[in-house]
Amino acid sequence: MMEALTYSRVHNAVGAAGAQRRALDEALAWAVRRRAFGQAIVTYPMVQATLTEQQVRWRAGTLLAFEAALTLDEALQVPEQRTWLRLSTALAKYLTAEEAVGSARSTLELIGGNGYTSDYPAARLLRDAQVLTVWEGPANVQALELLRLLAPRYGGFQVYTARLEGILAALPEPLDDLRLALTDRLTGDRQAFKVTTASPDQSQRYARQLLHRLAQSLALALLVEDAARSEGSGDPTPAAAARAYHELLTPPTFGEENRGVRQLLLDDLMRDDRLREEA
Ligand SMILES: Cc1cc2nc3c(=O)[nH]c(=O)nc-3n(C[C@H](O)[C@H](O)[C@H](O)COP(=O)(O)OP(=O)(O)OC[C@H]3O[C@@H](n4cnc5c(N)ncnc54)[C@H](O)[C@@H]3O)c2cc1C
Repeated sequence: MMEALTYSRVHNAVGAAGAQRRALDEALAWAVRRRAFGQAIVTYPMVQATLTEQQVRWRAGTLLAFEAALTLDEALQVPEQRTWLRLSTALAKYLTAEEAVGSARSTLELIGGNGYTSDYPAARLLRDAQVLTVWEGPANVQALELLRLLAPRYGGFQVYTARLEGILAALPEPLDDLRLALTDRLTGDRQAFKVTTASPDQSQRYARQLLHRLAQSLALALLVEDAARSEGSGDPTPAAAARAYHELLTPPTFGEENRGVRQLLLDDLMRDDRLREEA
């Protein structure tokens, strides 16, 4: 039974990441064509911020979904991977579904009044995304699965920290800022785990918060790993995405955000010639 659930939850996560990308594409297509106050709205910084945030969250969602999917394959050969399969699946299923709803909502708002009508796809994307949070087990059910896996029988937290420590150990020097960011995050995760597992009462009280926290930490770790993989390839986007995601999780002091990172992400979004011509 658990295997069947895991299988369909992985599919849910991959589908949710796809829904995130569709929402981003609709928002981008609209933003380059829609003119307001004399300019295409894609030229306005607040619109650019919405688009790049959708882009970063989609990258995070995709990496989460494929972490679970790759582990699904691995676990067929290596039974010891089953705890990580269940754990990464719960985290991926939960966060990708939430992010699919968030991204669809952003798209609807970006398209404005038209977005709310059924003449445009945004409202349907939002409604369709909402089912991703419900079926295959809502957030609370994923949180209960997390609690199960944290029990000594499975040692889920040790498996989780081993995955993140493996990523940290393989980071090249130019990504030292990301190493620091991920190390800090992991320290917070350990504290959150301790509080959640202190007693059965605490577990029920904090399970959902822990689910949210660990899912975001894993997403950050996977973005950092992706940045490390791309280091030296000449593509600065993965490292920019990891830095921008870290800023979403830990907002910098007002006015001190990394603008270079946002510009890199926007350039990546506008790479398609047709979009540049239309803007
Ligand atoms: C369009 C659609 C298609 C579906 N297709 C299928 C299908 O093909 N096959 C199939 O088997 N199912 C299917 N489902 C059912 C779906 O999996 C369930 O709706 C979903 O798992 C939630 O279960 P429930 O509706 O019984 O809600 P409930 O279990 O009653 O949950 C309601 C709320 O209570 C919370 N909750 C429940 N228990 C706890 C707890 N112990 N602690 C804290 N919170 C709790 C849940 O998180 C949820 O928010 C489908 C659902 C939809 C909407």
